[in-house]
Amino acid sequence: MDAKMIAKTGACLCGAVSISAKGLKPLVDICHCAMCRKWGGGPFMGVSADRFEVTGDTAVNSYPSSDWAERAFCSKCGSHLWYRFTPTNHFSFTAGLFDLDGEPEIEQQIFVDEKPAFYDFAQQTPMKTGAQIIAEAEAQGLTFDE
Ligand SMILES: [Zn+2]
Ligand SMILES: [Zn+2]
Repeated sequence: MDAKMIAKTGACLCGAVSISAKGLKPLVDICHCAMCRKWGGGPFMGVSADRFEVTGDTAVNSYPSSDWAERAFCSKCGSHLWYRFTPTNHFSFTAGLFDLDGEPEIEQQIFVDEKPAFYDFAQQTPMKTGAQIIAEAEAQGLTFDE
């Protein structure tokens, strides 16, 4: 999918943390895994950016949710800020921080095998299971063994 990068500044609910993204990809990745749903109360919706600057570092708190990921949140208002995949240092920012109305499309839905039956998105998108996502990452040389 060809997506034009956009410049956007997003912020948490209280405004203590803002993220100024230069090359924001207007595509939303949705993760249905049990950890994301426990973290956010629903599926994680993430956007990524080529270049970005975080303002308000002192309010940023993070939690290592596994050996390969860190989840950051604002320590004042609790807004979720990003999921960082540590092996590649890739940030997936919470889509809700940005005013993206009308712009993004769903790029893919992942861990669809962990999605509960009580909700579904109406859009037709690529759907990948957890095993497919792990296989894709391993094909790029990453390992997930303890
Ligand atoms: Zn905040
Ligand atoms: Zn997830």
